Amino acid sequence: MITIACRVCNTQMHVPDDQAGQMEKCPACDRLNDIPAPVEDHRKVERAFFDTSLQLQVRQADLLEKIRYELRWLSLWSKLVIGIIAISYLTGFLLWLFAK
Ligand SMILES: [Zn+2]
Repeated sequence: MITIACRVCNTQMHVPDDQAGQMEKCPACDRLNDIPAPVEDHRKVERAFFDTSLQLQVRQADLLEKIRYELRWLSLWSKLVIGIIAISYLTGFLLWLFAK
């Protein structure tokens, strides 16, 4: 059952769900009113939209987390590489110093 209010006189009308998308004549003022989809459907659509956006947000968060993780590894590796280069330079320098 869909409950609609007349746009002119605000009279409440109850129409079966299968009449959604059709027109209903107001019993009080004879004005034709659009029958919208049942409220439940709106909720379902909203719910689906909300779920989709939530999923997108989750996916985005996942991606950010992955990027953050990769960056952490990258910075760890770069630190390691820089450390190795620094140590080899230092050993080279020490060897050069003591070889004299
Ligand atoms: Zn009316």
